[in-house]
Amino acid sequence: MTAIVGFIGLGIMGGPMARNLARAGFHVQAFDLRSDAIQMAVNSGAKAAKSVSDAVVGAEFVITMLPNSEHILDVMLGDNDIFEKLDPNGLYIDMSTIAPTVTDQLAQEMHAHGFSMIDAPVGRQSSNAEQGTLLIMVGGEKTDIDRAMPLFEIMGSDIVHCGAVGNGSRMKIVNNYMSITLNALTAEALNLADVSGLNRELVCNVLLGTVAGQGHLSTTYPVKVLQGDLTPGFPIDLANKDLGLALDFASGLEAPVKTGEASKDYYDTASARSLGRNDWTSIYKMIRESDRQPK
Ligand code: NAD
Repeated sequence: MTAIVGFIGLGIMGGPMARNLARAGFHVQAFDLRSDAIQMAVNSGAKAAKSVSDAVVGAEFVITMLPNSEHILDVMLGDNDIFEKLDPNGLYIDMSTIAPTVTDQLAQEMHAHGFSMIDAPVGRQSSNAEQGTLLIMVGGEKTDIDRAMPLFEIMGSDIVHCGAVGNGSRMKIVNNYMSITLNALTAEALNLADVSGLNRELVCNVLLGTVAGQGHLSTTYPVKVLQGDLTPGFPIDLANKDLGLALDFASGLEAPVKTGEASKDYYDTASARSLGRNDWTSIYKMIRESDRQPK
């Protein structure tokens, strides 16, 4: 592996990713605002870059792994003269989690200047970044992705092509919306169990035996709403009744249930629209067809 890789952003995730590339033999030109982060990359065989521009010069691949949209816009479209410094055949890969609209804006700018870009945000945690077992959600042209595949295979163990550039970001945002909201719901439910006086281990075991712990995507959705089957396995009206019971019970215990309160709005709306005898998974169909949603 002799390709030069400009790597910008050597934090919790970017640090180990860049170090793995360097250890695998890529010529990594590493840059971060923190000199200790650069030093760690150097210890693994990377070359220290003095600036963003310095990291980019001569690179066949440029990877950014920065905190958020504004950092990416600043680094790529700010005062770094990126388009003058980039190798004409350089492929730009943003692996950060940023707004999909910013990914689109960036891709347009790159293409307008004659450069290719793919977006490849990652799933999983820093330990996976260390072990090279990230899940990488890639958006872009197949030829570009094929070019980048040797790098992805060092950094990750599951590489998923999500479609055109920008779809990696979209997939990541959808994934994180669900997992992050589920975290809040899980915290509320376990707290409600705690203040109810239930044994936590027992609670976890019971929840893992139902949709609560197993998740809808592996249980109800594939056999009900995603098949177009709205006949009630569990009718919306009964689910709404049970959600009401939980909210009242939690209120008496002063346990926060904000996620449940927000969800109640959907169930109430479904009942008001005479959908109460439909299967509870048809909440998805209602939201999908709602006038409030973009088509
Ligand atoms: P981090 O804050 O640990 O690292 C970001 C690094 O970027 C820092 O070292 C910072 O000094 C550097 N930086 C900021 N501005 C810079 C600039 N202008 N030039 C050069 N370097 C600059 O963040 P992280 O945890 O490594 O996350 C990076 C991205 O990956 C984020 O978008 C995050 O949402 C995403 N992500 C994080 C995790 C996680 O578990 N930490 C998991 C998946 C995805």
